[in-house]
Amino acid sequence: VVVARDVHKSFGRVEVLKGIDLDVRRGEVVVILGPSGSGKSTFLRCINHLEEMDAGSITVGGVQIGYQVHGDRLVRASDRLAARQRLTVGMVFQQFNLFGHMTALENLIEAPVGLHHVPRAAARGRALELLEMVGLGDRADAYPRQLSGGQQQRVAIARALAIQPELLLFDEPTSALDPELVGEVLATMRQLADEGYTMIIVTHEIGFARQAADRVVFMDDGVVVEAGQPSAVIDAPQHPRTQSFLARIH
Ligand code: ATP
Ligand code: MG
Repeated sequence: VVVARDVHKSFGRVEVLKGIDLDVRRGEVVVILGPSGSGKSTFLRCINHLEEMDAGSITVGGVQIGYQVHGDRLVRASDRLAARQRLTVGMVFQQFNLFGHMTALENLIEAPVGLHHVPRAAARGRALELLEMVGLGDRADAYPRQLSGGQQQRVAIARALAIQPELLLFDEPTSALDPELVGEVLATMRQLADEGYTMIIVTHEIGFARQAADRVVFMDDGVVVEAGQPSAVIDAPQHPRTQSFLARIH
């Protein structure tokens, strides 16, 4: 589903991504680990073109988001096309980013109705199913401020699913939560992994990575240092940088 090749990105003179390669197959769950500032968020944001890379390429389902084929070249897509392309990717952020003036249900139907032109009644039905799935079927009419952080994050996950994405990106989805609320969000993510969603997840939750990931990628200083099976990377890291990172967060 995802093919990233030699992705480079600088901010000013600071080179943040120094040639990232990553392939993610359909149904695969990839956890990205790495120290603060290593470029994890920047890489995720390049995938759906929230950030524009300087060199390299990333395709999602064969499409390079933010670009269109023009003759034999790739040119920048219009904002409208880019917005439509972005609907193949659902993203969940650390700060839930729900619309505060909309109920949980309204948060879920906004994109399908506004951007996908799904009829309202159908979008509503699907939204209720998704809220049910994340365990919030009875909170459809609640506003974000009436929900706990864990509940808000589960609404945000349901909202990401409402556009029927091919790929789900999570950027530290539990970092902003009180410790006792982390488990319910990880359980929801586990469920999605079991259902076969393709997911790329930046997290420091090592236990989750060990249980739910098909592959763990360790990034440091803008490069992939080490990648492989969770048991290999987490329990028997080969690279000294991976070893010292894991020693610090364990
Ligand atoms: P964290 O674990 O703290 O979230 P990260 O691995 O996600 O870190 P990034 O957020 O990708 O790291 O940032 C990598 C580097 O790029 C950092 O040095 C950061 O200061 C810099 N950076 C990120 N976004 C911008 C921006 N919009 N403008 C300038 N510098 C940026
Ligand atoms: Mg980050």
